[in-house]
Amino acid sequence: MLQELEKSRAWIEVNLDNLKYNIMEIKQAISKYTKIIAVVKANAYGHGLVEVSKYLNDIGIYDFAVATLEEGITLRKNGIVGNILIFGYTDISLMKYVIEYDLIQTVVDEDYAKKLMDSCYRVKVHIKINTGMNRNGISYQNISLIKEIYKNETLDVLGIYTHLCAVDSLLEEDVVFTKLQIKRYFDIIDILKKKNINVGSTHIQSSYGLLHYPEVICDYVRIGSLMYGTHNKLVENPKLKLDLKPVLTVKARITSVKTIEKGETVGYGRIFRAEKKLKIATASIGFADGYPRNLSGKNVPVIINGKKAIVIGRICMDILMIDIKDIEVKVGDIVTLIGDKVTADLVADFARSASYELLCRLGTRLHRIYKYEKITE
Ligand SMILES: *Cc1c(COP(=O)(O)O)cnc(C)c1O
Repeated sequence: MLQELEKSRAWIEVNLDNLKYNIMEIKQAISKYTKIIAVVKANAYGHGLVEVSKYLNDIGIYDFAVATLEEGITLRKNGIVGNILIFGYTDISLMKYVIEYDLIQTVVDEDYAKKLMDSCYRVKVHIKINTGMNRNGISYQNISLIKEIYKNETLDVLGIYTHLCAVDSLLEEDVVFTKLQIKRYFDIIDILKKKNINVGSTHIQSSYGLLHYPEVICDYVRIGSLMYGTHNKLVENPKLKLDLKPVLTVKARITSVKTIEKGETVGYGRIFRAEKKLKIATASIGFADGYPRNLSGKNVPVIINGKKAIVIGRICMDILMIDIKDIEVKVGDIVTLIGDKVTADLVADFARSASYELLCRLGTRLHRIYKYEKITE
C-alpha cells in the first residue's frame, strides 16, 4: 500500500530500458571476443541487486561480480544463473558456501592462496594480481606462487585479473603508471602461457579503464558505473566515446509551500537567511534516505516541474527545504534530487564525493520502482 507511487514520500525509479541501452552501447564498443562482467556489488550501486541482475539475465548477461559472499548467495537464492565472481575476502571457513552456491572466489593475496591450498577445498577461483594498487592481490613478482596455484590439484582456477588504480586520470604520471600496471599483468600472462599453463579468463578493465584504454583487450571487462550510466562528465575526452543514459532517479514529494520574509532563517542552525521575500517548499527526503547532509548550504540544484530550484538550510534527517524561486509549486508535486539535469555525478561533486558513494548509500527507506518495456528476444 505504502509502496504505491501516488502516496510515497520519496522513492527511486530504475529505468531498466536505459540499463539495456547502456549494455548494448558498451557491447558495440568492445571487441567481439570480450564479454561483460556486470558488477552488481553494493546492491547494484543502489539500483537493487536482485532486480537488476534478473533483468541482466533476461537480456543475456551471464557473468556477474559481487563484493561479498552474501551478495553472491542472494543472487543464487533468487535464481540468477551464470558465473558469479566474489571480488572480496571470504573467510576460508565459509568456503563450503562458495561451493554450495557455485560461486567463484578471488584469491585475494599470498597468505590467502596458501590457506586455500592447504584447505583442499575444490573451489572455483580467479587469481587477483597486485600490479601496483596495493589493495589486494598476489604480487606480480611472485610468479612461483602463481604457478603453484595453477598447478594445485584441488583448486579450479578459472581466471586471472588485476585492477588499475589511476585509470580515471590522464595526467602523464598516471598514464605512465597505468601502462606499467598493464605491462606487469600481460608479462605474467606471457610467462604462464610459455609454461603451457591454461590461464583461464583474463580481465583488467573497469569502467574508466575501458574509456581511456579501449585498446587493451582481454576476455572480460568488469563494468559497473558505465552500465548504470553514471560515469563522470569530468572525464572530458575519453578515447572511447559512449552515449550512456542514467538508470536511476531519486524523487520526493513536496509537502509544504510557504512564503518567508526578508531576514527570516530556514532550518537547524539558521544557516540560511533570506535576503528578500522568498517562496520556499519542504520536500520529504533527508539524509536518512542517503541525500548527504554535507550538501547543506552548498546551493545544490534540484528539479521541480522541469525547472531548477535550490536546496537551502541544513538538510534534516527526513526533510529538506528548497528555494522554489518563481516556480509554480503545490503540495504533492514531485522534486527530482538525482537524475534529469541533476545527475548523480553533479550532486556527488557538490558533496565532494563520487557518484559511486552517493548511489550506494541511498537509504533502505526509499523503495525502488522498476520501469521497462517487455523484452522481446
Ligand atoms: C567495483 C569494481 C569494478 C567496477 O568498477 P566501475 O568503475 O564501476 O566499472 C571492477 N573491478 C573491481 C575489482 C571492482 O572492485
